[in-house]
Amino acid sequence: MGAEEEGVTHHIIVIGPPASGKGTHGQRLSVDLGLDHVATGDLLRTHVAERDELGEAAEDYMSQGQLVPDELVVRMLSERLADTAGGVVLDGFPRTVAQADALADQVGLGPTLVIVLEVPEQVLVERIAGRRVCPNGHVYHVSADPSEQPGVCDIDGEPLEQRPDDTPETIRERLSVYRDQTEPLVDRYARQGLVSRVDGVGEPEDVYARVRQAVLG
Ligand code: AMP
Repeated sequence: MGAEEEGVTHHIIVIGPPASGKGTHGQRLSVDLGLDHVATGDLLRTHVAERDELGEAAEDYMSQGQLVPDELVVRMLSERLADTAGGVVLDGFPRTVAQADALADQVGLGPTLVIVLEVPEQVLVERIAGRRVCPNGHVYHVSADPSEQPGVCDIDGEPLEQRPDDTPETIRERLSVYRDQTEPLVDRYARQGLVSRVDGVGEPEDVYARVRQAVLG
């Protein structure tokens, strides 16, 4: 679809269940295409770490694996996008039909393309159980992508931890939230002809090649 055409502003939405690779591939795509990368999960985690008003309001929802209320997330995103001049890769937003409506009506962004990463639930559960992150957001997996020294980030030497929402109970809740609230949104975007489904299982390089192919054709 020519996302590289000059002078055209592109908005790419990356949707997928938890641990489907939205962050990894969304980030890489943004660098590749010279677009801004905006991940609502990362923005929310920064607010929680800073213990500001939004962080306090969001923390319990996040640790229980539920969605933060639309109004809070939409306001946060509008403020973030006010700094963005060109196209953007949106990672983890929208996650509900109401958020998609707000994106079009309040923020004025219609998506150019929606990439949906597809990964079976048993693979997601395995990925989440082994995921370790450093406070600066670098991500590892204990068996599939371990750090050189166990428990220590290769990049900045920070201690690695599990995300507080990567517990077995919360994983189940997050998967069911995805099925109930986000899949209907995917169906709607699909009816609009905007969706490209990408097989998210395999080596990250191979998955990224499929993502890139879906965007650039
Ligand atoms: P993620 O990093 O995308 O897995 O998001 C982590 C958590 O942040 C989610 O489980 C939600 O609690 C919250 N979150 C991230 N994006 C959104 C969104 N668009 N709407 C509501 N909650 C969100």
